Amino acid sequence: MERDRTNLARWLEVDLEAIAHNTAQVKQLLSPGVQLMAVVKGDGYGHGLIPAACAALARGADMLGVTHPEEGVALREAGITAPVLIFRPLLPGEEEIAVAFRLTPSLSDLEQAEHLAAAARRAGEQISVHVKIETGMGRTGFTPASFRDEAGRLLSLSELKWEGIYTHFAAAAGDPSFTRHQYRVFLELLDALAARGIRIPVRHVCNSAALLLYPEMHLDLVRAGTLLYGQLPAGIKSAPLVLRETWSFWARVIHLQRVPRSATVGYGRTFRACRDTVLAVLPVGYSDGFGLDVMPRPAGLWDLIKILAKLTGAFFGIPWGASYVQVNGRPAPVVGRLGMELSCIDVGKIPEVGIGTPVLLPARRTALSAAIPRLYLESHTQARQNSTNNF
Ligand SMILES: *Cc1c(COP(=O)(O)O)cnc(C)c1O
Repeated sequence: MERDRTNLARWLEVDLEAIAHNTAQVKQLLSPGVQLMAVVKGDGYGHGLIPAACAALARGADMLGVTHPEEGVALREAGITAPVLIFRPLLPGEEEIAVAFRLTPSLSDLEQAEHLAAAARRAGEQISVHVKIETGMGRTGFTPASFRDEAGRLLSLSELKWEGIYTHFAAAAGDPSFTRHQYRVFLELLDALAARGIRIPVRHVCNSAALLLYPEMHLDLVRAGTLLYGQLPAGIKSAPLVLRETWSFWARVIHLQRVPRSATVGYGRTFRACRDTVLAVLPVGYSDGFGLDVMPRPAGLWDLIKILAKLTGAFFGIPWGASYVQVNGRPAPVVGRLGMELSCIDVGKIPEVGIGTPVLLPARRTALSAAIPRLYLESHTQARQNSTNNF
């Protein structure tokens, strides 16, 4: 359904053709036979679960990855028949859903596997599963030792089809030696299993960062999220693909006020105008995910100096470290502390700003609230049609 942006105060324009393009770009980095999983968790990284999935499937994704079984159910109810991997362990009681909707659970312990096998038996079905191996992320998965010990028992559960085995890297972009260590632990497990005649066909380890940095680790499938949504993973500066921006975030000016030099703005009065100026109020704040930024640890002395300079500037009302938005094609600094739902920008030097002027906001991936209306540039039903034609 197209919505008319003229009566929206804030909205996201999502370009599904860009997601499709980025999918094709990732696909061309893979050797023939390596499959691509499009990760569409977190509401398709904020782009909308179903539209993002359809766009990725239309251009070569072989499988989808989500966190929760409900997301899998939503994909099935939208008519998507592609395989869907559920990353998180199922809670007792969720196995029936996985079986009924032909989702592919990840297994992290024996008990889960037994519950799932029992649910499949009751339904008279077999269900595909992927084994998650914990190699250093420190969250879910069998340890290699526990999987080796329990493999006999696990593989005897005949209702489970042992389709995949995978692990997840903790620092693929930033820590090559730890990443290689995790990979080695994973391969050693595969070797130990092979020595016992156990071979699980679909082996996978790469997220976006790893698939760019370690082509030798592609194995049978890669799991890409970030790249499909037009971003390079944090810490990676360039890559041999051409990504397109998948969305833009807009809000309209809802109020304008002239303020004199040394007027203060917002909670805590953290901004003080260093000249007479004009402030515009925007109906976006931290509850929308706007401007959410964790304070990073400075990456070095130079980084520390830059942060101190920005803070010093802010103290004197000079917006050196400010976030900027674009108004009529020009940059305007965000001033004062962000409110939950409102923020202020300085438009004193920008001509022709009025009530209703659209402002382009920086949009970080995933963090934007689902409450912000999404407008789809490429028609959603079109992408859907293309993707269902593939099955
Ligand atoms: C989120 C996630 C991915 C995708 O990560 P990106 O860095 O966004 O490509 C891959 N695998 C698992 C298990 C994930 O949870």
